[in-house]
Formats: sequence, structure tokens, C-alpha cells
Amino acid sequence: MNTSILRRFDLTGLIEEVRETNAKKIGIQLPDGIKYWIFEIVRILEKEGFEVVVSGKASYGSCDIDLELLKKVDLLMHFSHTPVIELDRVVYVPYKVEYNVESVLKTLRTEDIEFERVSLTATSQYAHKLEEVKERLEDEGFKVYLKKGSDRVKMKGQVLGCNFTSVDRRAEAVIFVGDGNFHPKGIAIYSKKDVYAVSPLEEKLRKFRKDEVEKFIRERYTLIAKAMECKNFCVVASSKPGQNRLDLAVKLRNLLNSVNCNSIIVYTDEVRLENFPCECIINTACPRISYDDWRVIKKPVLTPQEAEIIAGKRSLDDYEVDEIL
Ligand code: SF4
Repeated sequence: MNTSILRRFDLTGLIEEVRETNAKKIGIQLPDGIKYWIFEIVRILEKEGFEVVVSGKASYGSCDIDLELLKKVDLLMHFSHTPVIELDRVVYVPYKVEYNVESVLKTLRTEDIEFERVSLTATSQYAHKLEEVKERLEDEGFKVYLKKGSDRVKMKGQVLGCNFTSVDRRAEAVIFVGDGNFHPKGIAIYSKKDVYAVSPLEEKLRKFRKDEVEKFIRERYTLIAKAMECKNFCVVASSKPGQNRLDLAVKLRNLLNSVNCNSIIVYTDEVRLENFPCECIINTACPRISYDDWRVIKKPVLTPQEAEIIAGKRSLDDYEVDEIL
């Protein structure tokens, strides 16, 4: 296997682009999955004459730019994510996984997809081949919707853990190309449709059925009921540039206080709040924290929509997944 970073990122054109900005000192920020190649990346850039400083912060998405490092360097290269916001002196280096479209089709054929109209989606690493996948699915008789979502997503069909606007609601089911469970689960909650998730690298198909979504929502109801017994609430507003929803946090705080829930706003890049005497957290930062991390945080972490349910402004039947648009 060729493990060189150059198989994954096209740095040649990018280095020219960076040189044209006259930047000398470059910051590098990359997610944990790519840190394996950090020595090689630094060596390549230093050979080109740049001084390089690597961010030690975690990087969960392009919402999570290392602003402190950005102050110290001429330019920051943010690896692996497409931009959700545009920032001066930040260059995004997307990660594209090369995969075989025919093997995606073969994997899909292992399940009998009983729907004709499908919406096609992927994470940013896989979205570059969705036009090709669409053509092949149409050859097989499907009516395929491949839609560009809100400005937060850059490619047709692209979904984020906080944005599913590329899902076309006219479809009867959704096909997702990518890895892991979070995105397809999020799509299923957002769309209330069955989701067929293909991992091109593992050549595996997972199906997320509507009834699994109902189970997930029942678990959230239990958490909401627990939160209704709480007295003190911290409403978290994130200091991360692409997760900042301070206005929403203020609105939710006012709403909670209006129904006698004692609440304060906490501005932070860390949602845990171990030292705060609140029994419940309302999270306006990354929605994945509310859904994935509340067990670790050991107190209910609710989304803005769930806070509205507590305050009686939204009914349980109107449950919606949290998105940043
Ligand atoms: S807010 Fe969360 S889900 Fe959205 S891009 Fe950032 S890390 Fe990903």
C-alpha cells in the first residue's frame, strides 16, 4: 500500500496558491485520523521554504478553526474538511477518498431496495463521485435526486453531522455513501425515511429503518422528561467560529426563564461544565454533542428544539433533529 499523504491530498496546486499570498509562516490543523501523516506534511512544506507550526487542538470539522494559532501565523491550512464558513487567511485542504462506483452499486444490490425514488447523499470525502453514482443508479431504473443543500455544504448531496439540507424530501428513501453511523442516523431522523448506507471502503451496506429512529426519539423523550425536573440550566454558546449560535442561546435562555427555569448562558469551547451547578445543559454548539456525548457528561444535554419542548413551545410530535444551517 502506498501510504504517502500525496495519495490523499493534492498539495502541488495548493502550495502555489499559498506561495502567491506571500505567507512565510504556516499553521497546520488536521483531524486525529490524518495526524498519522503530520511529519510528512511538515517535511513537504518546509522543503518548499515555509516555516510550519502544527495545531495541537482537536479538529472535528471546519467549524473548529484554531483561531489562536491563526493569530500567530500568516496563513492556516485546515486539512480534511470543506469550509462551513469563510475566514480570512484560512485555506481548506479537502480530503477525497478514491473509490470504485461499480463496487458501490454491487454493495447496494445486496439489499432489495423496494423504492424507486431515492435521494443521494455522502460526506465530503465521498461526494465528489456522486454524479457518477447517480448515472449508474439511473441505469438501474431509479429516479435519483441529487440536491445541493444550504450554503453550509459545498457539494451536491453533501451532508454534515449538523446539516442534512441536501436530502431531497420528494424521495421515498435515502442512499448515503460514507463511513460510520452518525450521518445516516441523522439523515433518518431528519427525513423520517429509510436510509441505505454504503461504505465503499468496507464494501458493506447498513440499513437505518424508520422504526430505529422511533426508538432513538423515545430515548430523547426520556431525557426531556428528566430535564423537566431540573431547576438550573446552563445554555451553552460555542466560541468555535462555525458553531457560534449566541443569538439562539439568548433566545432559549429568555424562553426558559419565562417558564421559571433558572438559566444562564455559558460561552465556551467545552460543553462539559463539570464545575457548574446546573442539572441540565442546553447545547447550541455542535449538535453531535447533544446526541453522542450526554452519557459521558452525565447530565441531560438537550438540543434547542428539545429546550422548546420543555418550555411548552413545541409539541413532542413536532420533534426535529438539530441542524446548523
Ligand atoms: S458543528 Fe459538528 S457536525 Fe457540524 S461541521 Fe462542526 S463538528 Fe461537524
